[in-house]
Amino acid sequence: MEMDRLATQRSMNKWAARAIPVILFGISGYASYVVVERVCVRFFLRPPPDLGLVSQPPTMIGILVAFFILMVLWIVPYVRIIQVIITDPGLVPRKEAVSLPSANSTNDAKNGSRTASRIQSHDVNRALEGTGHPYAPDGVLDRRAILEGEVPPPPGLEKFYEKNIFVCDYTGLPIWCIECRNWKPDRTHHSSELGRCVRRMDHYCPWVGGIVSETNMKFFVQFLVYAALCTGFIMSLLAYVVSVQRRSLPEIDPHVIVVLAIASLFFFFTAGLGGSTIHLALLNLTTVDNLGRGNHIYFLAVRIDEDAQNFGASPSNANGGQGGSAHYTQVTYPFQRLSIRGQDANNRENVESGAHAFAILRTPSGDNPFYISRLRNMQELMGYTILDWLLPFKYSPLCDHSSPESDFVMGPLVEQLKHDAGLSDRRSRSRHRKKRRRRRRDPNEDSIV
Ligand SMILES: [Zn+2]
Repeated sequence: MEMDRLATQRSMNKWAARAIPVILFGISGYASYVVVERVCVRFFLRPPPDLGLVSQPPTMIGILVAFFILMVLWIVPYVRIIQVIITDPGLVPRKEAVSLPSANSTNDAKNGSRTASRIQSHDVNRALEGTGHPYAPDGVLDRRAILEGEVPPPPGLEKFYEKNIFVCDYTGLPIWCIECRNWKPDRTHHSSELGRCVRRMDHYCPWVGGIVSETNMKFFVQFLVYAALCTGFIMSLLAYVVSVQRRSLPEIDPHVIVVLAIASLFFFFTAGLGGSTIHLALLNLTTVDNLGRGNHIYFLAVRIDEDAQNFGASPSNANGGQGGSAHYTQVTYPFQRLSIRGQDANNRENVESGAHAFAILRTPSGDNPFYISRLRNMQELMGYTILDWLLPFKYSPLCDHSSPESDFVMGPLVEQLKHDAGLSDRRSRSRHRKKRRRRRRDPNEDSIV
């Protein structure tokens, strides 16, 4: 039943995605006719004698230039959004997805990648032979078994622990998507419309016929701002024309009334949506982040550098170790116990690359670790030059995930959390000094809180 409902929803969305741009361009064509012919020509260039106006060619030219510039300004980002939705919608690649043959057939058949998934399932199952399975048939991950080294984790973890910070769950594993059976990179959300995980997903937008995500969010903001300017301009112009016609003519041009009504509707819609979108962008929040933001808690795996490891608090281990007086929980990648047993060929290379110890830190309820500053939040979305802000060509800087630090730039909250956990340099050094002083006093005491 649920699958039927989803399938109906998806096919409706698909048709809406095709119909809405056509309707929108139809309305724009009609509005252009009314502004050019009914307003510029019949009102400003050749006004009827009853109106008592003189011909105003310069005003007409000014209106035409402003109108067509504003039209182009919203149409270009709109077309760019649709192009990005088709070519690069920010989906998390499937190639490392772990699927069970029994459960993947429905979704994958729809997405035309049945063969690819079968091959993946086969490979994964072969890799898992004799070591048990890390997930139940419904896709739920057996975190305990993975952390204790009883089963190898699904592939792809190295993309997370090669960074210094990544978003994790309370156990220190990255977030797992039950639907895709794949790890979710930071700020990824599973879209039920697409049946796929989408990076920095914002929302499904019927007006652009797809998901607004990290790859097109910037163009979406530009589209809303320019559309609000354009419809606001048309609304003011036509309101003026109607007010003059009402005073002098027996009846008002009905075409002008219709376009005035449509422009007003679109103005309030785009200005309202644009305002709330920019408000969230200033806070570096997506629409998804904003849902239930008040009590949301992030867990972050923060790499412990050697100094901090030597001088810091004594942590408890999420995967196997015995904790002292825990200041934070620690998880070490790759999972050593499994590697030492040598049961899994995939882990051999991980052993060679060395262990990465991470502290699992928890944000206060409702705080956003991605908030940098209002300006930097906007720059990460819109770009670092005026032209980047105005023109819909370059991607947002936040689409670049190549930094070894983290997938997205982290804000001062994370520095504060590291500091509080004794992981940042300054605090580590002062802790180290304290520790030495305390040791001189009491040689048996070795835990620092
Ligand atoms: Zn997913």
